[in-house]
Amino acid sequence: MSKDKLKIYKFVTNGTQSMILNQIRNHAPISRTTIVSNTNLTHAAVSRSVAVLLKNDIVKESPLSDEKGPRRKRGLILNPEYGCCLAVGYTAFGLEGVIVDTAYQALVTSERKVPLNSMTQEQVIQQIKNFTEELRQKIPPNHTDCIGLAVIDPGIIDIENGVSLFSSTLNDWKNVPVKDILENHFNLPVMLFNNSNATITAIDRLENPTLSPNLMYVQYGRGIGSSLKLEGKYIFGHADLAGELGHIRVTAEPVPCHCGGIGCLEAMAALPALARNTSRMLLDNSVSSLKGTENLSGIDVLKAAAEGDRLATHVVEEAYTYLGQVVASVVNVVNPELLIFDHLVGLAGKNCVETLIRSLRKDIMEPHAKTLQIRISEQESHLNAMGGAFAILDYCLEK
Ligand SMILES: [Zn+2]
Repeated sequence: MSKDKLKIYKFVTNGTQSMILNQIRNHAPISRTTIVSNTNLTHAAVSRSVAVLLKNDIVKESPLSDEKGPRRKRGLILNPEYGCCLAVGYTAFGLEGVIVDTAYQALVTSERKVPLNSMTQEQVIQQIKNFTEELRQKIPPNHTDCIGLAVIDPGIIDIENGVSLFSSTLNDWKNVPVKDILENHFNLPVMLFNNSNATITAIDRLENPTLSPNLMYVQYGRGIGSSLKLEGKYIFGHADLAGELGHIRVTAEPVPCHCGGIGCLEAMAALPALARNTSRMLLDNSVSSLKGTENLSGIDVLKAAAEGDRLATHVVEEAYTYLGQVVASVVNVVNPELLIFDHLVGLAGKNCVETLIRSLRKDIMEPHAKTLQIRISEQESHLNAMGGAFAILDYCLEK
């Protein structure tokens, strides 16, 4: 197949179809009348375009959830069997993948823990190829039309050319033409995304039921970062570097951060900091259920805090207080309506989460505090892969 055939195809041929499909994606099941009132398109234009979309199997009629009344109204939904999309994300510690249907539902998820950080570039590429091939084998028989492959890279990327420029977490990963390598191997169109592109796309679809145009997501784990949607647009910054929440300085203490700075939020409050601080306190003969735990991890500390361990609670509360202060500063600047924390934050239990919210609310200006909604994400895994797949589908829906 020639190279230019490896293009992700659009589901629409004009802007009207695109507007209608966006309405259906966001509000399915939705009636033609509601599409007319939401878009200011004419009834005739909506009817005509919907007829084309139905004929092409891109959308389907489905009963509306409200089936009362003499004439049951029908609604339009995206046809899940129109096709599917593969997505594979990789980090220093392994790979995750999903197959998503054309109605934005995950059909298959998979993951593999493997230390990619200690491998050569060739070995990492081989791991990605093998993992993707195994995922492709799992495409269900009624979804065989595969639209494309989304690949989510942990580093800095050149989106246009599909090249990973640099990753601080993979040792041998510089100027890797990921898109070309995988397109040639799989004969499938590939789109390359970075973590922050994928994360905000996934969070926006999965955790934003009211479709708020102003959204902030706080990612918490080995690192700390943030993703933003403001006035309906995802914000990545001039060089795609926006969101480095973890590298805001929170203390004058000379605690080194891997970014080269000192006293960064990430160095004081991310998972490795929880493990380090707890281990140090355990050396002082403090009483704790974590005493004697081999290879103590930050997750161990969060779980012990949830079970009421006092030492763990103290360590987590100190970290969450810093986190709350930094997030509050950003909230004051960008004024989100909805603030969502990584699900890992909730692992520490109700009391620690209350400490976080208290710290946050203390530093938010009052008018912000009145309108801000806060929640903890329910998405435990595969956020990046889901976001990559959704981003491809979003692309297909745009004119
Ligand atoms: Zn830093």
